[in-house]
Amino acid sequence: MVACKICSKKSELISTSLPICIDCIREGSERSLKIIERSHKDSRASFDLPHKPPKNGKVECPMCGNQCRMEDGEYGFCGLRYAKSGHLRTKGVGWLDWYYDPLPTNCVASFCCAGCTESGYPKFSYADGPEFGYKNLAVFYRACSFDCLFCQNYHFRESLGKRVSPEELLEKVDERTSCVCFFGGDPSPQINHTIRFAEKAKEKQRKLRICWETNGSMQLPYLKKITKIALESGGCIKFDLKAYDEKLNYALCGVSNKTTIDNFGHVSHFISERPNPPLLIASTLLVPGYIDVKEIKRIARFIAQFNPKIPYSLLCFHPQFYFRDIPVTSRELAYEAYDAALKEGLTNVHIGNKHLLLL
Ligand code: SF4
Ligand code: SF4
Ligand code: SF4
Ligand SMILES: [Zn+2]
Repeated sequence: MVACKICSKKSELISTSLPICIDCIREGSERSLKIIERSHKDSRASFDLPHKPPKNGKVECPMCGNQCRMEDGEYGFCGLRYAKSGHLRTKGVGWLDWYYDPLPTNCVASFCCAGCTESGYPKFSYADGPEFGYKNLAVFYRACSFDCLFCQNYHFRESLGKRVSPEELLEKVDERTSCVCFFGGDPSPQINHTIRFAEKAKEKQRKLRICWETNGSMQLPYLKKITKIALESGGCIKFDLKAYDEKLNYALCGVSNKTTIDNFGHVSHFISERPNPPLLIASTLLVPGYIDVKEIKRIARFIAQFNPKIPYSLLCFHPQFYFRDIPVTSRELAYEAYDAALKEGLTNVHIGNKHLLLL
């Protein structure tokens, strides 16, 4: 049992790495903000990453919603970009791992996408159902614009790995590759690399869906480009909405979700241009103690205002990274969240990775 450092409430659903209860996070006192910042400072220091997006320099990065403003010698939040002699420099882009995943995959959108369901056939898919015999090229970008204390893929922080150019990645697209998924980490700090690849891929293969699975924090000019590519290719943009409340997002992920929220609204305007397969998909990780039914209701209401048919997947949490002391999502939380999302008007709600659910 950990006691909340603000109200002293004790709970098994409070992590030692973020020792504040959800109510006190939502209240947002100065004291809670200091504790939250300390938590992220500690988590970032272990990987030699800046603890906050820098804001005092003259060199601004245009890539993601963190809008880092760096002084000479200072690095951006993602650790990929820095300022030198008054100019923006990068360690390069294309830091990634890739692998093939046979279709149908266990992808976040597998309950509604063209690779795993009958949706989108014949224009965007080779089969009137799951595309057995075909594969997805999964591209894992090794950097991120968020610092989620529950990160389910935290190993990328240990090293950047090796660089792969868009041309080299394109060689991996063969006649049995019917989709590409950019994820990570997050594609947002290297979004220009995903776009360069996608523009070349269009010319190579007639049916090749291109999808992004992201925290949704890329800046608008990049979002516009990827929306167009996803639309035309039969792919989708999967927004992982960590929280709706900005204070909660800040506590859990170390940065604001303002860009993500704005970007979601932007993509929603294009849904009617290609309703099938769905262009825009949302998901939320059900982190016990920190994402409750109240938060799911707010997220579901937010999504439904744009279009009640937007598919929404509720994902089960597994103890990871700094939240190793938080239990797996309970069946009760998953089903209460599911019912709440339906009550808020969404019509296509799904519980993902059910096998993890605590009985
Ligand atoms: S990509 Fe985002 S996090 Fe990285 S330096 Fe640019 S604005 Fe900062
Ligand atoms: S990459 Fe896109 S089309 Fe392929 S399985 Fe994932 S969501 Fe479906
Ligand atoms: S956005 Fe994803 S990869 Fe990035 S810190 Fe959060 S959970 Fe980890
Ligand atoms: Zn409290």
